[in-house]
Amino acid sequence: MTDLPRRRLITLLGAGLAAVPAYALAEGGVVHGDASPPSVRRARRPRAAAKPAAATPAPETAPHAHAAPPSVSPDEAMDRLMRGNARFAEGYGAHPNSGAPRRVEVAAGQRPFATILACADSRAAPELIFDQGLGDLFVVRVAGNVVDDAVLASIEYSVIHLGSTLIMALGHERCGAVKATIEALAGRGDPADRDTKIGALAALIAPAVRATPPGAPDPLDAAVSLNAAHAAGEILARSPPLRTRVVAGSLKIVAARYDLDDGRVTPTRA
Ligand SMILES: [Zn+2]
Repeated sequence: MTDLPRRRLITLLGAGLAAVPAYALAEGGVVHGDASPPSVRRARRPRAAAKPAAATPAPETAPHAHAAPPSVSPDEAMDRLMRGNARFAEGYGAHPNSGAPRRVEVAAGQRPFATILACADSRAAPELIFDQGLGDLFVVRVAGNVVDDAVLASIEYSVIHLGSTLIMALGHERCGAVKATIEALAGRGDPADRDTKIGALAALIAPAVRATPPGAPDPLDAAVSLNAAHAAGEILARSPPLRTRVVAGSLKIVAARYDLDDGRVTPTRA
């Protein structure tokens, strides 16, 4: 990883996401900062709000004949995600873009505004925890939110061909895959995992576990955050086209941790 992307990544990861007002809203890319209660918002929500297309493709995508123009700016994408998470965590989920009109709209084509690499854990479903709907998020899920070739190719496709401008590697509290890796590296692997591919998965999580500082008060939670940061770093390091976009400012890659208890997503540092 060069200095520049690392600086950008750290800057973004460190960017404070100030507390979002309870009713702050950014669904469908249509309404921002709406302070009215959910019932009012629901009543006047556009039935099939079409996102305005960007007028001109970003310079680095222009030469690619089949590249999609960016859907929204990376900062707007992050804002929409975090506002949606605030709605979810506070119990005011608007469940946008989930009805029949949206289904019809996106049947013709998709332009997800963000890409989420999440764990397969049944409690960490991105569409739910970010309060988004059909066609909003391009989600890649695998236990331990690790990056292999198939995962990276999926992520690349979402950015290059669908116009996503934000990639979030999302770890979560009490991740079983990270916990199993910690146990395996300590020589306490589960005999039931013998003759499975679970060891191959653990090998992808192991770098984060090994990077956990000795004496960390909560080694599992520290490893979860490091693992998400490691995944974000892998995406940046292993994909030249995505790196080009990050350097140009048309794509951001962030790492974050989801708290199972309070429902909050918090950006983490590498
Ligand atoms: Zn997990």
